[in-house]
Amino acid sequence: MATLPERLTNLDPSLRAFIESSDFPPLGTVPAPPPLPAGRVLAHNNIQHAPQFTQGFNGFRFWYQDPNYPGSPPLRPCTCGFAPDHPVHYQVARE
Ligand SMILES: [Zn+2]
Repeated sequence: MATLPERLTNLDPSLRAFIESSDFPPLGTVPAPPPLPAGRVLAHNNIQHAPQFTQGFNGFRFWYQDPNYPGSPPLRPCTCGFAPDHPVHYQVARE
């Protein structure tokens, strides 16, 4: 469960709910090996990236998301080569 800094008081409520419901590994890390916590999926943002990117590099972010949590962004399966230890991962679906 992510904890938001006090200064982030003007976030859209659905974005706040998503962030608070997700687990964001620290900067510079790679995804934890499978299995993920029950009910979570590995997801990343749409920043252009290479499979070797770590958390935060060039704006690349990944997290462990409960896809059914209200306010969670829509996801689609991704085949970019990131996190090869995981049988499947997702990226945020662009509208
Ligand atoms: Zn991907």
